[in-house]
Amino acid sequence: MIEVTNIDVFYGNIQVLKGVSLHVTRGEIVALIGANGAGKSTLMKATIGLLPKKSGNICLEGYPITALPCPEIIRLGIAVVPEGRRLFAPLSVLDNLNLGAYLRLTNGFKKEVQEDLQTMFQIFPRLRERSHQLAGTLSGGEQQMLAIARALMERPKVLLMDEPSIGLAPLIVKEIFEIIRRLKDEGNTFLLIEQNARMALRVSDRGYLMELGRIILNGSAESLFKEETVRKSYLGA
Ligand code: ATP
Repeated sequence: MIEVTNIDVFYGNIQVLKGVSLHVTRGEIVALIGANGAGKSTLMKATIGLLPKKSGNICLEGYPITALPCPEIIRLGIAVVPEGRRLFAPLSVLDNLNLGAYLRLTNGFKKEVQEDLQTMFQIFPRLRERSHQLAGTLSGGEQQMLAIARALMERPKVLLMDEPSIGLAPLIVKEIFEIIRRLKDEGNTFLLIEQNARMALRVSDRGYLMELGRIILNGSAESLFKEETVRKSYLGA
């Protein structure tokens, strides 16, 4: 679904991503784990066209998107759940969800969008209860659910999620990850960027470990759980 090959990204003179390659196959959850500052968010931003790539290629379903601007990449089917959720705080839950489907609404797919709204309310019953509440007044967990639902309203081919667990209590994190797992079972594809390696690897099929802008390990989630580096530095074992 997504194939990143040998990407180099710089901030000014400083090289932050060094020959990064990874791929996500349709229907997979792939975790990208690593410490603060490893370059995970940079990879996400580079993938969706928010940062220039000095070299390397990115393809979506085999189609090169390396040099495309962000809106075009989003239109082609990559949705993002950004770190910090970035909701439209003064707008209601319902308005936020409709904005997720903005492109389809303006192209006359109103009925389809209505159906998707009902699907989101089934997956996230709390959003139905709070559909008229302002997004900025939701709890952190509810905001994360809304950010995921809003991204799904785009009907993306693949969802990039940046630190969905950040700032949330352990029970809510568990709930969010259970929902991600369920969404995968329904056919969705995820690249899950996380510092919470334990939770991320628990729900993922495969994973990559990034350190200082390089992928230093990759493999099945099961095999990464057993890796000494992962156990010592990321699982506290
Ligand atoms: P975290 O988990 O803390 O979000 P990360 O793995 O996502 O970390 P990035 O945010 O990609 O890491 O940052 C990678 C490196 O790039 C860091 O050293 C960071 O200071 C640097 N960096 C990020 N954004 C910029 C920027 N706009 N200008 C200059 N340097 C930046």
